[in-house]
Amino acid sequence: MTCPPGRHRPPRIKSGEGNHTGRVSHFKKCPAERPSNLPALPNGRSDVLIAGGGFAGFALAIALRQALGRSFTVTLADPAVGQTGRDIRASAIAAAPRRMFEALGVWDAVANEAQPILDMVITDSRVHDAVRPVFLTFGGEIEPGEPFAHMIENGRLVAALAAKAESAGVALIATAVADFTAETSCLNAALRNGTAMRTKLLVAADGARSRLRERAGIATYGWSYAQSAIVTTVAHERSHQGRAEEHFLPSGPFAILPLRDNRSSIVWTERTEEAERIVALPDDDFHHELEKRFGLRLGDIVVSGPRRAYPLGLWVARSFIADRLALVGDAAHVIHPIAGQGLNMGLRDVAALAEAIVDAVRAGLDPGDAAVLERYQRWRRFDTMTMCVSTDGLNRLFTSPSDAVRLVRDLGLGLVDRFPALKHLFIREAAGLVGEVPKLLRGESLGL
Ligand SMILES: Cc1cc2nc3c(=O)[nH]c(=O)nc-3n(C[C@H](O)[C@H](O)[C@H](O)COP(=O)(O)OP(=O)(O)OC[C@H]3O[C@@H](n4cnc5c(N)ncnc54)[C@H](O)[C@@H]3O)c2cc1C
Repeated sequence: MTCPPGRHRPPRIKSGEGNHTGRVSHFKKCPAERPSNLPALPNGRSDVLIAGGGFAGFALAIALRQALGRSFTVTLADPAVGQTGRDIRASAIAAAPRRMFEALGVWDAVANEAQPILDMVITDSRVHDAVRPVFLTFGGEIEPGEPFAHMIENGRLVAALAAKAESAGVALIATAVADFTAETSCLNAALRNGTAMRTKLLVAADGARSRLRERAGIATYGWSYAQSAIVTTVAHERSHQGRAEEHFLPSGPFAILPLRDNRSSIVWTERTEEAERIVALPDDDFHHELEKRFGLRLGDIVVSGPRRAYPLGLWVARSFIADRLALVGDAAHVIHPIAGQGLNMGLRDVAALAEAIVDAVRAGLDPGDAAVLERYQRWRRFDTMTMCVSTDGLNRLFTSPSDAVRLVRDLGLGLVDRFPALKHLFIREAAGLVGEVPKLLRGESLGL
């Protein structure tokens, strides 16, 4: 623990409904005299402390406040709270997480900005091939009127989540969680602004390079792909008609993902050195490289957003839990964006952890109890490993330079294309509706 005694002040709460001054029922069993190298602060307490205000952290904070009411205090700390323009990406939000956003009352705020994906085509070719034969098409709806996914810009969705968290009474603090010590019946956290906080459960939603995961001594396994995804936005002459395209090229997938207003988000995978070279090109040369891959189907194109390369890898935490600590989202697992499932997996963590906590608290149990955390881990582990193996396998299959492998994969795609029942199963899987689906992802509220 790095906070020297005497430097601790009560946390400065940026927003919220005074939930640090009201009754804090879950601390009845957390004795002030318990040995700790942080002083007990009457105002520095929260039933749950969430480190990280990305999709995962905000969604969990809202779910807990809405289900457990005002006497259950939730604090979210992130140095970037209130800064929503940093992420230039857009995400495919599958049907199940969209249902969860609806249950949390967030979807209405972004529905007009979200572009339904009405169908998807998959091709397998080389950059200079004149024709890109379509091997597989996915289309249709999960339920009548419900597309299998929507595209939305990350900044807009995080802004809507932040606004909902604030109105739900989550205490937002614009600083990082720097360190923590778990005790038997509570956890003491030191915040980067020099304040301290005592909680029953610390949730690390602090992203792929999670410092809290490291601090808990939880190792990760996985590897870097030596690939990076170039992300940018283009405006085009013709309408995409809600169609997403994924062109499997030898260096990795080149995805054209539909956004509102005749625009598309590009996720373009290259070897890392090549991605860095392309991102640094002058505008005209960048446009030329992009056009070679984009094709002519949508008419003239204009790069209408910034560009950035994201290094890609597969990383999974060896454990999703430790004493009074749970990892969610990218802090627990990072996968290749080939299937657009990383965030969707993180929201599955959130829905499962929220349900485990809410059930426990309603039964009069401690939200950071080992049994609650074990239930969360059991629920998420198998599903996470399955997704890691599938996305890794897909990436290897489609980047293999062998003509024999190419022939086999194209035959496989063609076969899937001919079996509607198989395609339907894949769509439901991609929509997040297969397996033991937590209530929030079924669109059910956790409220009584
Ligand atoms: C190119 C690309 C495209 C993708 N496309 C898709 C897609 O289409 N669909 C999909 O489902 N997924 C997609 N993903 C994956 C998705 O973007 C991530 O899984 C998701 O953003 C992770 O969200 P998160 O909330 O877990 O973490 P993050 O969004 O990384 O948020 C972590 C937050 O923690 C904060 N933080 C860091 N350290 C601390 C600390 N010590 N204390 C407090 N706060 C801290 C940071 O400021 C940050 O705000 C894509 C990924 C990439 C790279």
